Amino acid sequence: MTRRRKIYEGKAKILYEGPEPGTIIQYFKDDATAFNAQKKGTISGKGVINNRISEYVFTRLSHIGIPTHFVRRLNMREQLVKQVEIVPIEVVVRNVAAGSLTKRLGIEEGTPLPHTLLEYCYKDDALGDPLIAEEHIACFGWASQEEMQDISAMAIRINDFMSGMFAAINIRLIDFKLEFGRLFDGDFSRIILADEISPDGCRLWDMDSGEKLDKDRFRRDLGGEVEAYQEVARRLGLLPEEGDSAVLDLGEHRAKKGK
Ligand code: UDP
Repeated sequence: MTRRRKIYEGKAKILYEGPEPGTIIQYFKDDATAFNAQKKGTISGKGVINNRISEYVFTRLSHIGIPTHFVRRLNMREQLVKQVEIVPIEVVVRNVAAGSLTKRLGIEEGTPLPHTLLEYCYKDDALGDPLIAEEHIACFGWASQEEMQDISAMAIRINDFMSGMFAAINIRLIDFKLEFGRLFDGDFSRIILADEISPDGCRLWDMDSGEKLDKDRFRRDLGGEVEAYQEVARRLGLLPEEGDSAVLDLGEHRAKKGK
């Protein structure tokens, strides 16, 4: 196979040029970072699980009419996606207070919010992805008002769908981060969902025990990261039940753990 051209390497993924124009290959790494990359580590097997979970969530979202960049999963760690121009805004959707919201406003973790809160951060690692208002987005032209209407409407719909999807498997969707991109067709572009949706960018709590099944396990040194990510995949029906033949082969992870 010819060597593929690497387009970009981020904290958790590598992007390669895709097989045809307008496509990209997303490779999911096991690398994990937190606190603006001040904390770094590896969660062995994470990339495989996130690739599968993200495929599943994006596919379900496409079934309710959310346009996404996802084309198909290629293998354990890679998926083919449509090339977009990423809107430089991280959209954070919150249902329950956690993380930076609790610190910023002194609200106790776990406080249910009276209504879904949308927050925007400017995507800039050097600045630490600062929180911004919609006025900043308009002022600096990061997205048009029409684009922001599409983005906010999609974010709310995605939240409604995902809250139900996770509730059905006894998981509370606390908050999550979305990224959107512009898909060009000649001079015109439309907004579609991009990046990934996985326990790396969501807070997911077990409905009964409150156990964290997401990247907070890594952020807070709680341990059991892979087991938590696997548990999410298992409840979504993406992992084999005991005795089944493998649906999601975590070969590398199992080999390392000697299972
Ligand atoms: N999030 C993310 N990437 C970021 C910042 C946040 O995926 O660069 C996700 C995070 O996992 C959580 C939600 O967005 O599910 C809200 O994160 P928060 O603002 O609380 O930031 P944190 O302090 O956790 O980085």
